[in-house]
Amino acid sequence: MTKRHPDTELIHAGEGAPSNAMPVTTPIYSSSTFTFASSAELEAYQQGRSQSFMYSRYANPTVMAVEAKLAAAEGGEAAMLLSSGMAATSTALFGLLQSGDEVICSAAIYGGTLQVLRSFLDRFGVRARFVSMEQLGALGSVIGPSTKVVWFESPTNPTLRCADIAAVASVCRAKGVVSIVDNTFASPVNQQPLTLGADLVMHSATKYLNGHSDVTAGALVGSKALIDRVMPARKLLGGVLEPASAYALGRGMKTLGVRIARHNSNALTIARWLETHPGVSRVCYPGLESHPDHDIARRQMHGCGGMVCFESRDGQDGAVRFFDRIALFQRAASLGGVESLCSLPVLTSQYGLSDEQLAEAGVTRGMVRLSVGLEDSEDLIADVQQALD
Ligand code: PLP
Repeated sequence: MTKRHPDTELIHAGEGAPSNAMPVTTPIYSSSTFTFASSAELEAYQQGRSQSFMYSRYANPTVMAVEAKLAAAEGGEAAMLLSSGMAATSTALFGLLQSGDEVICSAAIYGGTLQVLRSFLDRFGVRARFVSMEQLGALGSVIGPSTKVVWFESPTNPTLRCADIAAVASVCRAKGVVSIVDNTFASPVNQQPLTLGADLVMHSATKYLNGHSDVTAGALVGSKALIDRVMPARKLLGGVLEPASAYALGRGMKTLGVRIARHNSNALTIARWLETHPGVSRVCYPGLESHPDHDIARRQMHGCGGMVCFESRDGQDGAVRFFDRIALFQRAASLGGVESLCSLPVLTSQYGLSDEQLAEAGVTRGMVRLSVGLEDSEDLIADVQQALD
């Protein structure tokens, strides 16, 4: 009889093991490496003839189980988990681009994405061109011969503008350009960019996908061919998600549907209430009839998500006053958790941007961003009211 190492005894549960040993949840395979029975098995793995695991930086069973779940949620063939949203962004860009290529990106974009495109990729000879939402809508005339990727968010952070994903994706496809949508704000429950024709979806899984503000993770979802194209960059740059975080993310995703339904209804209720308050000059929420992209949102989204942004009539002073008085909402960056959070974009996601860059992103100094959680909507409105009054 082959003598086994005690640690592997449990995995290869043999004689005497309970007959119902199949777990309901995917276990955390925290092992960094996996054994091979023979040189023939190792060679089969290297030649792509076996489904074995070798090393957790390349692939890990716990991580793969969550990747399969996410691919299904987005309507994609394959998914890849990474150690943060920014790891997903940089890995995708390094995997798809080379010196001399150009990326077209909407100027209304998460600040980290903007900085990676503006300050890092140019060191490697990749040029980024930032366009307004209007130019994104007329992309045919913007794409040039060296454009290889079009990157955009919908809804955008923090202004909640929406791009017509099907229209952008079809122009990209006709010109042989890869379209990538940051779907963090919507979540796959509210919007599936791949089914609208986009090539790749990117997520800060730190946000709604996990939903409990206790995991930092990122994801890419798309066709198997495109994920395979990016895979060498994940393997070699090493931004992989570790198994315990993947497990927590998979657990969070089990309640994604019910959480998003409540985020949608709470946020819409608060957005409608804010529109009636005299201290508020503008409310950005795609579910409101007053929103400039309301029709696009109605066409491509099932619900409009949990993010609401508003502008204080008193500008930055009013926004700061609100921020310092809010009580049930917690003052914190990030978003998408079960608890409600409040942030000031100019002091968080858009911190350090010049007035010109802020204007390009549509962000004003009087803006307040709310990540509306799952609490009772009446309690949330009472809190917003006391902070505004
Ligand atoms: N994309 C959006 C829309 C975000 O809001 C964020 C983070 O706030 C990111 C990407 C980056 O994700 P992470 O912080 O997980 O790296």
